[in-house]
Amino acid sequence: MEAIVSRGGASGADRDGMELSRDGLLRWVGLRLGAGVLLGGVCGCSEPAPAPVRAGPAQHLLLVVVDTLRADHVGVLGAARDTTPQLDALAERGVVFSQAIAPSPWTRPSMGTLMTGRLPLALGLTDHNFRNPQTDGDVLPQSALTLAEVLGSADFATSGVVANINVEPVFGFDQGFADYVSVPAEMASDPAWRERNDWLRDTSSRVTTRARDWLADFAATNSVDDRAFLYVHYLDPHDPYTPAAKFDALFDADRSSGNPWAEDERLYDAEIRQIDAEVGRLLDGLDDAGIADDTLVVIVSDHGEEFGDHGGTRHGHSVYDELLRVPWIMAGPGVARERRRDQVGLIDVMPTVLDALDIAAPTGLRGTSQLALTPTTRATRSSVSAEHASAAVFSESAYVPLNALRAPPWKLIVDTETNAASLFNLARDPREHDDVAAHHPHVVQRLLERWRDERATSERNRLPSDATSTGLSSAQREQLEALGYIGDDHAR
Ligand SMILES: [Zn+2]
Repeated sequence: MEAIVSRGGASGADRDGMELSRDGLLRWVGLRLGAGVLLGGVCGCSEPAPAPVRAGPAQHLLLVVVDTLRADHVGVLGAARDTTPQLDALAERGVVFSQAIAPSPWTRPSMGTLMTGRLPLALGLTDHNFRNPQTDGDVLPQSALTLAEVLGSADFATSGVVANINVEPVFGFDQGFADYVSVPAEMASDPAWRERNDWLRDTSSRVTTRARDWLADFAATNSVDDRAFLYVHYLDPHDPYTPAAKFDALFDADRSSGNPWAEDERLYDAEIRQIDAEVGRLLDGLDDAGIADDTLVVIVSDHGEEFGDHGGTRHGHSVYDELLRVPWIMAGPGVARERRRDQVGLIDVMPTVLDALDIAAPTGLRGTSQLALTPTTRATRSSVSAEHASAAVFSESAYVPLNALRAPPWKLIVDTETNAASLFNLARDPREHDDVAAHHPHVVQRLLERWRDERATSERNRLPSDATSTGLSSAQREQLEALGYIGDDHAR
C-alpha cells in the first residue's frame, strides 16, 4: 500500500468536507487518522489507491496568474466547453477553491492584494489615472511588503515574467524581484513588433519561453538546497479575443443562447484553451528543470469577464460575481486533494503559500492561510466572520463607485457615493438578478456596519504613498490604449 502523509498542522482530520475526485480512500483515512500516520492494508476495495500527498513544505513556488479568467469558464469549475485540460489535470492532484473571490474587478488593485495580502484601499491602489499615473492611488507603494520581498529575504531566487502593463515596474510591481521581465517592453524594443503595432498577440508563448529560460538557468546554476520563486503573468484571455487559428477552430458558437456576445464568448474560450496549453508547456519546464516534485504550483486569475450577464461586457465596471469569482488551483508538496466550496479570497493566497513554503508570514496580513484551517474555523469563517473577513470586501474605484461585501449566502453591493445598497441571496440567486434588500432590512443594516468597519480598518492601516512621481513611456501608452484603458471606452 502507499503511504499517505498529511502535512503537520493540517491533519487529515482537519480536511473533513473534502471531496476526492477519484475515490473515497483518502477521505476515509483523513477522517480516522491524524497527521503523519502511515496507511497500510486498511482498504479492501479494488480501486487503485490515489497517489500519496507529498509531505510539505514545498521548496519552490510557481505562481501563475492567468489574467481575466472567469471561474465558471474553467473546466473543473463548470465550464461549458473543454477549455482547461491542463488546469483540470493539476486540480486532480491538488486543491480547487470554487468560491475564490478577487478584491477588485480589474488588474492593478487585485494584483496588489495578491502580492501583499492587503486590500486595495489599504494599499492606496484606488485610482486609474492611466494617462498620467500618480504615485498616490495608482502605484503599489514601496512601503508595501510584497511576497517577492519576503521570499527574497528568505534567500529565494526570484523572478517575474509578465505580460500585463498594469504589473510593470512603473506601477511598482517589480518590488523584491531579482529578475523582472516585461514581455511587452521587450516587444516594444523590437522594431519588427513595433512595425506591426501588434502588442497583444502572441505574448503568451513568449511569456512561457522566457519563464522556461529562467527555470533552466536556475536549474543549471543553483545547488539542490536553493529555492526559487517564479511569478508568471499571462495577459490572455484579456480582450481583444484573438486566439491562434488552431484554437479558434476548436469550439462552435452557441447560437441557441440568443446572447449577442456568444461569439465573443467562444473566442474567449478558445483563448483560454490556448493559455491552458501554455500553462502545460510551463509545467513541462518545471519537469525539465528537475524541480516539479518540489514545487508548489498556484494558478489564479486577477478578475473575471462579463458577457452580458448584467448588460455589460469586459471587466472593471461592476462587482457582480462574473467579475469577482476567479479560479484558485494549487498543487504540490503539503497540499491535499480536495474541492473547497467555502469562500476564500485572493487576499488569502500570500499567507497560504508562505505557510506551504514554511516561511513566517509578516505581520499585518489580512488574509488567512487556507492550509491551516480546521473544519471548525472554516465553518466559523463562512457563517460569521466571512462578513468581516478581508475576503468579503471588494473595492473598486476605477470606473464605478461600487463596493461589495460577500458574506454567503448574502452579498451586499454599496454605491459609495450615495450609500445605496443592494442585497442578493447567492444561494437562491447566484446570478444576482433579484435585489432583495427591501425584504431583509436587518441583514442590510448588519452588512453595512461590517462594510463600514472594513473600510475604516483599511483607511486606518493605509500605507503612505510614495513621494516621487512616475511616468509612462510612449510604448506603454500605446499598449494601454490597445487594451482599452486609455480612450473613450472605459467599460473594461
Ligand atoms: Zn487583469
